[in-house]
Amino acid sequence: MKNRYCFCILLGLALSIAGSAAPSDTPAIHFVSFKQVHVDDEFWSPKFDLWQHTTAVDVLDKFEGKHIKEEGNHNTFSNFDQVARGDKGTGGHFGAPWFDGLIYESIRGIADYLAQNPDPEMEKRLDGYIERIEAAQKVDPNGYIDTYTDLNEPDHRWGENGGFLRWQHDVYNAGMLIEAGVHYYQATGKTKLLTVATRLANYMYDYMGPSDDPRNPKKNVVPSHSGPEEAMVKLYWLYRDHPELKNQLEVPVCEEHYLQLVTRWMENRGHHCGFPNWEEWGNERAERWIKECRYEDPRFGDESRPCWGDYAQDRIPVFEQQTIEGHAVRATLMATGLSTLALVNHQPEYIETAKRLWDNMAGKRMFITGGVGAIHYDEKFGPDYYLPSDAYLETCAAIGAAFFSKRMTELTGNAMYMDEVERILFNSLMTAVSLSGNNYTYQNPLNAGNHNRWEWHGCPCCPPMFLKITSAIPGYIYAQKDKNLFVNLFISSQTDIPISRNNSVTLKQETRYPWDGKVILNVSPQKKSRFTIKIRIPGWAQGIENPFGLYTSNLKRSVTLKVNGKPYPIQIKNGYAHIHRSWKNMDQIELELPVQPRVIYAHPEVDNLKEQAALAAGPVIYAFENCDNPDFEKIILNSETPLKMEYKKDLLGGINQIQCQGTIPAVAVPYYAIANRQKNSSHKVWIPQK
Ligand SMILES: [Zn+2]
Repeated sequence: MKNRYCFCILLGLALSIAGSAAPSDTPAIHFVSFKQVHVDDEFWSPKFDLWQHTTAVDVLDKFEGKHIKEEGNHNTFSNFDQVARGDKGTGGHFGAPWFDGLIYESIRGIADYLAQNPDPEMEKRLDGYIERIEAAQKVDPNGYIDTYTDLNEPDHRWGENGGFLRWQHDVYNAGMLIEAGVHYYQATGKTKLLTVATRLANYMYDYMGPSDDPRNPKKNVVPSHSGPEEAMVKLYWLYRDHPELKNQLEVPVCEEHYLQLVTRWMENRGHHCGFPNWEEWGNERAERWIKECRYEDPRFGDESRPCWGDYAQDRIPVFEQQTIEGHAVRATLMATGLSTLALVNHQPEYIETAKRLWDNMAGKRMFITGGVGAIHYDEKFGPDYYLPSDAYLETCAAIGAAFFSKRMTELTGNAMYMDEVERILFNSLMTAVSLSGNNYTYQNPLNAGNHNRWEWHGCPCCPPMFLKITSAIPGYIYAQKDKNLFVNLFISSQTDIPISRNNSVTLKQETRYPWDGKVILNVSPQKKSRFTIKIRIPGWAQGIENPFGLYTSNLKRSVTLKVNGKPYPIQIKNGYAHIHRSWKNMDQIELELPVQPRVIYAHPEVDNLKEQAALAAGPVIYAFENCDNPDFEKIILNSETPLKMEYKKDLLGGINQIQCQGTIPAVAVPYYAIANRQKNSSHKVWIPQK
């Protein structure tokens, strides 16, 4: 069936007119696509190369079970093959219910790598997987696809009839498929996976989208694991911006429907029958209550569904949520979806809620490495100022917080959000994969004994998330709003940004960041012209370790800025130094950030960090590892400790090492580099002051 030009075009027009009349005080900035950015960086380029050519291959091999010697089926892709041959309810699913989603996430991450560095062999491999995914979908007349539910619980699609969506992940998996379809199309121009994704999006809209008829509401289903919200907005954007694409597909497309579905998902949170009471009953009793379909009792109304609890950000409506709660990956991805939707609808409730949740996260619940999700049980956020040194801190949760913070930068044009993206990249993210590129972490405690990376995990969710964000990083460097050009990250790279119909600006950045604070930015417009360069001055470099005072430091030096060799007064607004002038070919900005060791302290409300200190230099947080320190248990750190920093080319892939030259000599390395030199290693970020 070719595209039906349905009423949605008229409706879309009406919505966009209504949208433009709505309050719109958000100075959104637009990030420059990674397709327009060429990175050639001492720190990042070898890592991108390793992650694309070693980590991505390793992740797919392990999803195929190639690392397992024992007999039996260990191949995640066999799930699609079983469904494709018509299996149903056989119980033959391999892995956890969300493994479909992890495959799709891997495809999305690798697609972004392919878009930047084509690799025909890898593309062929992904095409093979996509054939199998398509074959699995073809079995269902509606385009439903979820291999766990079909193989193991076919009567519980979307968690209905006493199904347990919190565990099943049908909507999450669907969302990850949609995201993969969009990214793979953008990388390769191939429409097969996009068609599969669109068919499923259409079915979800028909099944659980908004209804015009209050007597006949569609199914009340919300993602019990967030992620699909942002994915569905991306699908909307793709078709809105490329209407010609709609005629190339064999499925109808109505992009407004996708936006309406996300809006309903978002606003239907907290709208349920009110039970089970997770807090009082506990997980086991609450689950049983759901599996017995008790929510179908007519006393709970017609549209009732169970409450998925604070764990899944569903106890109360989203706009009433004051603090960021529950499972930390779900929470950060819900907030990512909320802020993404706010970019489209500019609704004040969305923007205020997103800001409130971010403020709570970054101001009271974020660890010095950017990690979030303090508590092991239910993998969830803890209370305010609960920042124990042995906290859980799942890799995926930090990545979710980075995705959320990046969207907040777009929404507000404020660099404070980008500061936290950077904190996560250099610390929580970088530690998640070994320097060899094929061993991983799930938990990232700041202080730990017997810390190890694993070859693979029963829940291998973190490596796909790692691929998703690392391949996106080149698209985080530059941004634009009209004649304002933003530099967000310090990575040697080059881009061309059009500023008018007949003028564009080449920005070329050269730096050894994070090992050196000097950043050279060559600004070359085609034609001499007035515009503004806005360079993010990281909070840490201004002595603002955290925008809410959650952390403070003893930073001693300040930032300097020169334009064409002459000192330039630093005027910081919204976290960016503004340089407004008439620019000509080969103008040069020289920024010097104070990359030197500094000592960090936590807010006095953080009980367990009283009398403790941590070490950083630039954006990099340091740790003391037992293999470097014979007196590991006796190390102390405070503002009086004499500190010396030295670049070691051959250590841990090239790092700045910090030497503490006090009464007990000690050596610190970047937190991200721990657990690469020995098994069962011990490390500490937080160190006693006395
Ligand atoms: Zn994970």
